[in-house]
Amino acid sequence: MEQFLEYVEKHERDFIERLRKAVAIPSVSGDPAYRPEVFRMSEFLVAELKALGASVETRDLGKQNWHGQELDLPPIVLATVGNDPSKKTILVYGHYDVQPALIEDGWNTSPFELVEDDQDRLVGRGSSDDKGPVLGWINVVEAHKSLGLELPVNLKFCLEGMEESGSEGLDALIYDEASKYFKDVDAVCISDNYWLGTTKPCLTYGLRGVSYYHMKIKGPRADLHSGVFGGTVHEPMTDLISVMSKLVDPNGKILVPGIYDEVREVSPEEEKTYDNLDFKIEELHDAIGNKTNIHDSVRKTLQCRWRNPSLSLHGIEGAFYNPGDKTVIPACVTGKFSIRTVPDMEPKKISELVVKYCKDEFAKLGSKNEIDVYCTHDGNYWLSSPEHPNYVAAAKAVETVYKVKPDLTREGGSIPVTLSFQDALNKNVLLLPMGRGDDVSCTALVFSSHSDE
Ligand SMILES: [Zn+2]
Repeated sequence: MEQFLEYVEKHERDFIERLRKAVAIPSVSGDPAYRPEVFRMSEFLVAELKALGASVETRDLGKQNWHGQELDLPPIVLATVGNDPSKKTILVYGHYDVQPALIEDGWNTSPFELVEDDQDRLVGRGSSDDKGPVLGWINVVEAHKSLGLELPVNLKFCLEGMEESGSEGLDALIYDEASKYFKDVDAVCISDNYWLGTTKPCLTYGLRGVSYYHMKIKGPRADLHSGVFGGTVHEPMTDLISVMSKLVDPNGKILVPGIYDEVREVSPEEEKTYDNLDFKIEELHDAIGNKTNIHDSVRKTLQCRWRNPSLSLHGIEGAFYNPGDKTVIPACVTGKFSIRTVPDMEPKKISELVVKYCKDEFAKLGSKNEIDVYCTHDGNYWLSSPEHPNYVAAAKAVETVYKVKPDLTREGGSIPVTLSFQDALNKNVLLLPMGRGDDVSCTALVFSSHSDE
């Protein structure tokens, strides 16, 4: 271990140079103009892995239909380092594509040029999400190889180039390779989220699910003029606002009866994990840009983000939203809202409750309009066990390097690939973030840098 840590310290500049080369490739998956760069990035990784003696394969994912245009999907890079049957095999997932970035978006420096700022941070698109973490693993392999040290586990890599654009083709590949390339995998490790704060590493063991709903209210055949029809017809927008206002109260309490019935109680062990977290309420203020937080305590705030359900209203399709005054009565409006779900809520049951409640509340209005409420997509929550050997090993490793016990955290959003690996491989999945909590905001694009919806 000593030897390894010494090597890491001594080769810091080399690691930064490797990251500089990766950041310089603008592998933006969401913009067709950059698609060749995404391919170039996959080639960069293949070369790096091969140079370290890994056996590398790529999987072609075929074509993508991008608004009528046919685009080649970037390949999945699969690599294996070591195949000793007496060792455990860890599968590392990461992605080599990035979100778009323009200097006009608020960057202080050119986004695809890695810069070392005055606070000793490395700034550049993808440095933390997710090129840095992917290269982190490659650096570990390199250090062992150079020192002639044996890795304690076999490593397999699964690196994709479409994460920021819906991971097209990934799920099918994971299920397809579950009994082939991933056959001997004992546990999975994903480094694609962040520490909670800026000083202490964490292990993440839970994510909320999300169920998205549309509530459509239909009335007259076409839009009407309020000067002619105002006061004479049931207006869809009035009905919609009335029902939407009954979904959640201003303090975040969901008003759908029965919605909290399946929410798991906080156990004494879980309660303890909130004791010494690296988080201050001021960090929430910084993130939201003011002080409109509902709860004053860190504990309550994080529990509401990580382990309690929430309901958010997102928008109304068909409503007049341009500047100025317009006296239209919209003929049909669709309200959009979603619920973040937690253990042990079942998406199917939640949808039944939501649909029934909306229809009941609508019926109370006595309106002659028509309502339709439906779930457009749902994804389950994910919860792992911090007692699993995969987590125990990670906690030990973090403590060895950082000299501090990692926080145990969960996240309020979803990282769909986590569930895919767990369900397809039926193995423990660990989220081991490498980036600090402020890595997102120092790229000036708070909250928009991840693919999670
Ligand atoms: Zn990412």
